[in-house]
Amino acid sequence: MGRSFHLGTYAGIPVKVHWTFGLMLMIILYIGVQNHLNVIELGFFFLLVMTLFLCVILHEYGHALTARFYKVDTRDIIISPIGGVARLERLPSDPKEEFVIAIAGPLVNVVIAFVCMVILYFVTSDNMLSLNPDAVTVDNPLEFLKTVFYINIVLFLFNLIPAFPMDGGRVLRSLLSMKLGKARSTQIASTIGKIIAILFIGIGLYISHFALAIIGGFIFYMATSENKQVKLEERLHLTTIADILNPSFTKLYLEDPMSKPIEISMRTKEHNFLVYNPYIQRPVGIMHSLYIKDAIARKQTQAPVSKYTSPKLRLVSAETSIFETRQILHLEGLSIVAVGESLDEIVGVVDRDSILHFMNLSN
Ligand SMILES: [Zn+2]
Repeated sequence: MGRSFHLGTYAGIPVKVHWTFGLMLMIILYIGVQNHLNVIELGFFFLLVMTLFLCVILHEYGHALTARFYKVDTRDIIISPIGGVARLERLPSDPKEEFVIAIAGPLVNVVIAFVCMVILYFVTSDNMLSLNPDAVTVDNPLEFLKTVFYINIVLFLFNLIPAFPMDGGRVLRSLLSMKLGKARSTQIASTIGKIIAILFIGIGLYISHFALAIIGGFIFYMATSENKQVKLEERLHLTTIADILNPSFTKLYLEDPMSKPIEISMRTKEHNFLVYNPYIQRPVGIMHSLYIKDAIARKQTQAPVSKYTSPKLRLVSAETSIFETRQILHLEGLSIVAVGESLDEIVGVVDRDSILHFMNLSN
């Protein structure tokens, strides 16, 4: 995702702003200055951009809190010029859940627009439909409210475009998934996304509306990468770790000096190890590659392996999918798992590197 700034954590979810959002703020302010807005207008303009920003964050919380309802955690919310992303820990496997989570964001914008409309109705009895959006100037609170109303309607409609990464793409995928498999649905949704993207680019170039063409290019790119992502995820689900485990792994013993894992990790592709108790000939913990780096940094090459051993040990069956193993490593903060039916019959090991290697080969 590139560099982003941490804004704060609300409801247990960190909100981050991608650096390009700052760039967009500057471009918008530049346009404002170019159009000779006075100080009050510029102030309202700036407030408007901040409100837009808040609406996008609330939209993402719509996704994140609905996901929480289905026991799916959100790693963070990242705001960028093309909108926000609530990065979920996993994709909900049930298409109905995906549908509800995807639609919850745009519905937040409907609610905000509705609130604006109600306030405007009671304050001015203004008929929103008679308003010409091109004539809106943001130099008083009522005009401001009208603009917020329009912004939310646009956010709602834009997000319902049935192409990734818009919510509409996910809504479409989840609806298709109820009948077809996920990979097939993603492929169809991705193709529709590409067609819409090409239309955007074509129309954008034809009417010299370059922002539209750029958005089209972006949609095209995202539609392609979402399809790749789901294909990869499917392969991770369908492949068991039996295919990637290392059967001839090096055993470390509690009394070994740290120089042993240091030397092996420099010379070979083994960077994470199982640590054995020599008396019972069974693993009792793991050696994380970070601990090896730590030992090198502290010049503790002669320290016993036991000093750097983590007691977190996990045994996984060889029938486990790579996907599930990756989840286990991630959620339990492990770098390696022992593979086998019991600690006495370990058939191999799988570590983060072997999973990453598999993913790189599959891409
Ligand atoms: Zn959304």
